[in-house]
Amino acid sequence: MSGARNMLYRPTSRMGAADRTSAVASSFVVADGGQCIGCKACELACFAVHSQAGGIGASVGTVSVPVVPKVYVVRAGDAYVPVQCRHCENAPCAHACPVQAIRQEDGVVMIDEERCIGCTSCVLACPFGAIEVTPVYRAGHVVTQSGLTRHANRAALPRTAASKCDLCAETADGQPACVEACPNQVLRLAKGAVDSPPERRREVFFPRL
Ligand code: SF4
Ligand code: SF4
Repeated sequence: MSGARNMLYRPTSRMGAADRTSAVASSFVVADGGQCIGCKACELACFAVHSQAGGIGASVGTVSVPVVPKVYVVRAGDAYVPVQCRHCENAPCAHACPVQAIRQEDGVVMIDEERCIGCTSCVLACPFGAIEVTPVYRAGHVVTQSGLTRHANRAALPRTAASKCDLCAETADGQPACVEACPNQVLRLAKGAVDSPPERRREVFFPRL
């Protein structure tokens, strides 16, 4: 699978492995799967907002790359369920990464695309299937991996990196694009309750359950 890349997140500091997964309760997008109609407006909004920084057109007729969002609507029988990163407090993906390309900032688990080597360890470690390793695009063109060629014809192969939801932290109002786009109010940003004791978190994060 290939797609647009989010180029906004470049860490200014490198945190040690012990610090990358602090005990801060995360914010994440909660989905009321029973109400989802499978229209995929959330996927398109996600792709559009993350394409802008990458110089990729995000409106109809201007997109020249595969549309790959960071939220995926999956079908389970007759129901549809949006799936994306849960920004785990002790993120298994970060622990699995051999090059410290994953960090947690204010409860948001983010991937440093430049540091990522595309090994897929985080994909295997994520319990929610929220991470994909996809080709990297810049300004509408795939980035090739230096020295990596197809055996048969020596054609250059794309550089790949891990991709997942980053809660649209770069938007002015901090509201994830998928939440805003959903016509059925299926998605909601559950604010990280840093001080919430574990026994209260279901109440804080899932008030409708
Ligand atoms: S794919 Fe990238 S982010 Fe994931 S574990 Fe490998 S190097 Fe780390
Ligand atoms: S936009 Fe809302 S209703 Fe449409 S697929 Fe996404 S979550 Fe479901």
